[in-house]
Amino acid sequence: MKHNEPIIIAFDTSCDDTSVAILEGRKVLSSVVSSQVEIHAQWGGVVPDIARREHEKNIPMVYEEALKKAKIKIEDVDYVAATYGPGLAIDLEVGLAFAKELAIKYGKPFVPVNHMEGHMFSGLSLNTKGNGLVPGDMNEVEKLFPALALLISGKHTELVLVEKIGDYKKLGETLDDAVGEAFDKVGRILNFGYPGGPVVCEFAKKGVSGNIKFTIPMKNSGDMNFSYSGLKTAALYKTKELREEGKQDKEWVYDFCRGFLDTVIDSLNLKLKIAVESNPGVKTLFVGGGVFNSEEIVRKIGNTARSYGLTYIYSEQEYRGDNAGMVGVSAYFNILNGKYISEVGEIRKVDRDPRLSL
Ligand code: ZN
Repeated sequence: MKHNEPIIIAFDTSCDDTSVAILEGRKVLSSVVSSQVEIHAQWGGVVPDIARREHEKNIPMVYEEALKKAKIKIEDVDYVAATYGPGLAIDLEVGLAFAKELAIKYGKPFVPVNHMEGHMFSGLSLNTKGNGLVPGDMNEVEKLFPALALLISGKHTELVLVEKIGDYKKLGETLDDAVGEAFDKVGRILNFGYPGGPVVCEFAKKGVSGNIKFTIPMKNSGDMNFSYSGLKTAALYKTKELREEGKQDKEWVYDFCRGFLDTVIDSLNLKLKIAVESNPGVKTLFVGGGVFNSEEIVRKIGNTARSYGLTYIYSEQEYRGDNAGMVGVSAYFNILNGKYISEVGEIRKVDRDPRLSL
């Protein structure tokens, strides 16, 4: 079969999802994710050893399914891509090793991908018909820069200035916990189980703003850094206080979640505004990361971006969590920039980098 754009197979095993995707350029032909969330739920969080065992068990099946869904044979793939960081070291290894072996076996160039770059550009993926937020060729994509990116996930909270694809300057990041961690910890305090973050967002819908208030972290720091450890502690004390007053959880829990979510959104918007105002040339805001699964966060960050006249690029719900589709999009950009490896000895040398940054 002839294709105008390169066919890419992409792998991601950076945390607890085993994912494989097939793309034609930015078009996601298939993206298969095998989630382990139920297995880790009983431990209250991701256990790297268990995740590794599950990745090893699942990856051959997920791989076969992705090819089958895309109706592509491995021989017809032009590039093999995989996340090499950041993430959990022993888990990253599984997808990376599988992908490298595949590239070597079938004589394909290998594309190492930064998982956070994948999150950042996940909103640039297109569906099989070529539809998406930014359809068309790379000229359309290049018009989006310079841009800002806000990345919020279980391990990351970062504001990045993106001059162009591949040219990043970190403007701010969390000094302690990531937003996703704070959500899950608060979920635990409220006995929501794991992962508790999505429950906090659900419950917030039924709460009234202002009934329970928290201080916005780093409100007067003047910089673009974040901090969520103090907010988490404040939440813990607040629950103790309410319970000691003899109030049943159900009397205050919705307002509590409302107050917490409002504070997180306010803190993100506050830093975003500083970033936009101190970088007047930017045209676009990219957002990415699992925490954007909250429709309300997506909407309210979008309102801020649009109030400054920025184009707002966020991914469809299915690409907000970890997935190989976003890794494939990032791989495509790397390929266009010549960032891939053809020599077998060099492919073998690619190692996982758990603390990789942008
Ligand atoms: Zn991620």
